[in-house]
Amino acid sequence: MKFSIITLFPNLIKSYISESIIKRAVDKNSIEVEVIDLRNHTTLKHNQVDDYQFGGGKGMVLMAEPVVNAIESCKTKNSLVVLTSPQGKTWNQSSAREYASSNEHIILICGHYEGFDERILDYVDLEISIGDYVLTGGEIASIAILDSITRLLDGVIAKDSHLNDSFENNLLDHPVYTKPIEFRGKIVPEVLTSGHHANIEKYRQEGRLKNTFNKRPDLLEKSKLSNTDLEFIEKLKKVKGDN
Ligand code: SAM
Repeated sequence: MKFSIITLFPNLIKSYISESIIKRAVDKNSIEVEVIDLRNHTTLKHNQVDDYQFGGGKGMVLMAEPVVNAIESCKTKNSLVVLTSPQGKTWNQSSAREYASSNEHIILICGHYEGFDERILDYVDLEISIGDYVLTGGEIASIAILDSITRLLDGVIAKDSHLNDSFENNLLDHPVYTKPIEFRGKIVPEVLTSGHHANIEKYRQEGRLKNTFNKRPDLLEKSKLSNTDLEFIEKLKKVKGDN
């Protein structure tokens, strides 16, 4: 899969993709990342890409022309053009899964300052927000989108690992532990060192249910639960009610 990221700050993106799992994905050609400097797509003097907004008010606005030129420099018939924006549809794990399986080329546009000239929306397929808060620029949002898609692509991380991650089947992940077995008097649950796979899986599923029940009960309504899961949830409710 290819990502083209249009930004005023190419080094922010380059720095992120040159470390860890995303770097390995680039090295293995699981993804290709093209970083496009918006300033290379203006026809104005001094590489100008922004100007004051009509009607007055603080904050510069990114001009339509350089953004549209940058889109057109990399767009093909298979491209999806995404504008990062706090006004967009909120990104989540199922969006990441959907995009990982249905797109060949995603163009991500990073805004800055007050945002973009509204007329660029004619050249954009959709707006995506990474949450109900306002960032200074779209780089973090673009990286969040790229990263969450990339880790789901075949061969990037072990499938077992992401299939059990938080939000799969609308459950949070179970608690995990590593060495040492005892840390400041707290001991790793014995079942995890027992080697008994069925018991370990039962413990983990109960851990997922417990974490979700305690931290994100809203997700439980959307998850597909077995009768055993439902019985366990009833027990959790009873314990909570008793306290
Ligand atoms: N004035 C704009 C508004 O209130 O809708 C906010 C502009 S923001 C300061 C600058 C840029 O950061 C945006 O154009 C967008 O690219 C990015 N950005 C900010 N918050 C974001 C969010 N929650 N999700 C995705 N992108 C965001």
